[in-house]
Amino acid sequence: MTERIQEFLRARRNEGQDLEPCLVVDLDVVRDNFASFAKALPDSRVFYAVKANPAPEVLSLLASLGSCFDCASVQEIQMALAAGATPDRISFGNTIKKERDIARAFALGIRLFSVDCSAEVEKIARSAPGSKVFCRILYDCAGAEWPLSRKFGCDPEMAVDVLDAAKRLGLEPYGISFHVGSQQRKVKAWDRALAMAATVFRDCAERGINLSMVNMGGGFPTKYLKEVPAVVQYGRSIFRALRKHFGNQIPETIIEPGRGMVGNAGIIETEVVLISKKSDEDEMRWVYLDIGKFGGLAETMDESIRYAIKSRHDGAEMAPCVLAGPTCDSADVMYEKLPYPLPVTLEIGDKLLIEGTGAYTSTYSAVAFNGFPPLRTYHI
Ligand code: PLP
Repeated sequence: MTERIQEFLRARRNEGQDLEPCLVVDLDVVRDNFASFAKALPDSRVFYAVKANPAPEVLSLLASLGSCFDCASVQEIQMALAAGATPDRISFGNTIKKERDIARAFALGIRLFSVDCSAEVEKIARSAPGSKVFCRILYDCAGAEWPLSRKFGCDPEMAVDVLDAAKRLGLEPYGISFHVGSQQRKVKAWDRALAMAATVFRDCAERGINLSMVNMGGGFPTKYLKEVPAVVQYGRSIFRALRKHFGNQIPETIIEPGRGMVGNAGIIETEVVLISKKSDEDEMRWVYLDIGKFGGLAETMDESIRYAIKSRHDGAEMAPCVLAGPTCDSADVMYEKLPYPLPVTLEIGDKLLIEGTGAYTSTYSAVAFNGFPPLRTYHI
């Protein structure tokens, strides 16, 4: 946790403002992360994945640093434009789009779209004529803690047909994209995906389609409980893979970091509401917080994302707990299959700090489920 966040939380507590949980994001950490990506992959353009944290403060900072933006909806496109990005720095990167949203994006000046099937190509040809398209290929995401399933992408062989269809319909077949899975801890995960992309490049060239771009997606991790490799290690491994599969003709490349750009910049402060057991003989404590799956911790869904949690008792003896949220939904349990170690001295009313929560938290808490307000956020 940065000193600035520590100071902010102290002041908030002293003013008696700490009645609800909150997320605090240190923008200097985001600035440093952007610099690290630019240094580790100097030849790749950064398209920040807005979905990770679309706060206007984050978007304006990144726009001022020269970032481009990967947007999943017209609303995200509008947020990126409002933050100062020009349309040529924005992609509509969702493979699943309503045709009327494609038309709205086109009217806003967007000319770069992602596809993974011919039906999507047809929509774009009708509603965003002449635009550039890149085709997402399927990837199995081995090694990722938050894999992105078969929902997105198509087989590489089909990608050639999809890009061919784009060309026939007057679009510009621009390139290939893939995503190696979010929170990808294997630096070599890009190698096989780049091999697949290079094959599509070659197969397209045989049909007279000259692709020029590879979008290497996100997947760069943030530190939760386990250590993760530094961005520079990913950069080296990706560069080696590009060289290996594309030789001297390395195409234009894009990366779309989300979690890796903002995850470690945020801390959630939460309060222990209740500590109980299910029977007199039971050893296992149930610790209920004032934040849960519906308040911003949705990524604990299958317990694969395991946040680091700190308290004033750090250094005390630890014992495993079931960790749950405050709502009346029984699914609102964060860690139960693999209980979470917390200090045995933990008390009701204690504040806990959940680290690495700058990404994929605030946006998941947008509704006031059970009357609990959406997660309050501060970007400092
Ligand atoms: N790009 C696309 C198309 C995505 O769907 C996502 C995440 O879902 C990202 C980038 C960001 O991924 P990450 O947060 O793992 O960097």
